Amino acid sequence: MSKHVVILGAGYAGLRALHELQKGNNELKITLVDQNDYHFEATDIHEVAAGIQTSERITYPIKDVVKSACTTFVQGRVEKIDSENQLVHLKDQEAISYDYLIVALGYESESFGIPGVEEFSLKMVDIPTSEKVYQHLTEQMKAYKETKDENYLKIVVCGAGFTGIELLGSLHEGKKKLAEIAGVEPDKIQLYCVEAVTRLLPMFSEKLGGYGIDHLKKWGVNFLVGKPIKEIKQDTVVYLDNQETNELNELTAKTIIWTTGVSGSHVVGDSGFAAKRGRVMVKPDLTDADHENVYIIGDCSAVMDKESNRPYPTTAQISLKMGEHAGKNIKAQLKGEPTKEFTFKSLGSVASIGNSHAFGVVGKMEVKGYPASFIKKAIMDRSLFETGGVKEVLAKGRFDFYR
Ligand code: NAD
Repeated sequence: MSKHVVILGAGYAGLRALHELQKGNNELKITLVDQNDYHFEATDIHEVAAGIQTSERITYPIKDVVKSACTTFVQGRVEKIDSENQLVHLKDQEAISYDYLIVALGYESESFGIPGVEEFSLKMVDIPTSEKVYQHLTEQMKAYKETKDENYLKIVVCGAGFTGIELLGSLHEGKKKLAEIAGVEPDKIQLYCVEAVTRLLPMFSEKLGGYGIDHLKKWGVNFLVGKPIKEIKQDTVVYLDNQETNELNELTAKTIIWTTGVSGSHVVGDSGFAAKRGRVMVKPDLTDADHENVYIIGDCSAVMDKESNRPYPTTAQISLKMGEHAGKNIKAQLKGEPTKEFTFKSLGSVASIGNSHAFGVVGKMEVKGYPASFIKKAIMDRSLFETGGVKEVLAKGRFDFYR
């Protein structure tokens, strides 16, 4: 009887695994589960939040990449994995049994237990939350028009990691459209970023990171660095202003967006896997320590980089590689062959700041400005190709580099 592989999650890791398993397959039965009927490009959601891109532009239907001869797509919400009985429990649907499981459930916003984050700040982790940010922004602009209260024109981004920086770049670009709604000049919309540490973007050299930050400063972004956020209250960010005296200070704004980092899906820990912040330290072949038929990949997974002796960072690039690797290892297991260790050589990473500026590292080379933006779009097209193939690249790819 043919074996059944269940893939949980249709993000970068899950869809790349699907692609690998569907290739030349005539013996496997595959089920793909996702709560949405679309895949979204998680690296681009800040553009939707800032209103410079529509969500249609960064999503495509999952059915486009499902080969119905071997794969069934189930739209449903995974609640728990019962690895002892090899069952996946879904909300309000029948459980699915598996022979092999690929857990690729992605990430969630991490509040670090800071009071008020859930209630008083906006998340930006997927399509609905990103659309909600933009909807909120447009409402604030309309409210300014009526009240002339300048707090409606203030936007605070919490955290200056990759996500926060890319969001600030897009918000700068989105200011023009927002200003029209408010009936003001774009410069009247004030962007703030509150960040805990003083050495920003530690993955880049100080000079390169500084280039990106200086660019945003030139565009008028106000950075408050070395100011850990201690609480979010209604329309207020409370931060530690002086580490020696423990003096707190407040910044008021009607829009507060929380981008201080992510954790892996809570489902993983809830299901009894040994997760820390939703990430499981997997074996070198990407299987769970206690279950050789369960692969945990993407943002739910932590894999040791032997060179640095630290887990690899979570990126779209590594998720794609993990998806491919898990697919290949399952094929090997089915043939009774040994699985292979996962290795990863980063091709580099590039942060966009708006549509035509970016900075980052490609191979060993530092890139910045318009050429970096060109490279960033090529990287995006490549990711799109790896999950969606030629069809999606032609439909949604970024060839119009001036867009
Ligand atoms: P991150 O952890 O990289 O950055 C979060 C930032 O928030 C850090 O600078 C941190 O110091 C700050 N912070 C944390 N707690 C704070 C507090 N209480 N007050 C103020 N600041 C606080 O998280 P991210 O930016 O969401 O990125 C998550 C992962 O996704 C990273 O591995 C990142 O590299 C990756 N990513 C990559 C890309 C890309 O390659 N283009 C884009 C987005 C995200």
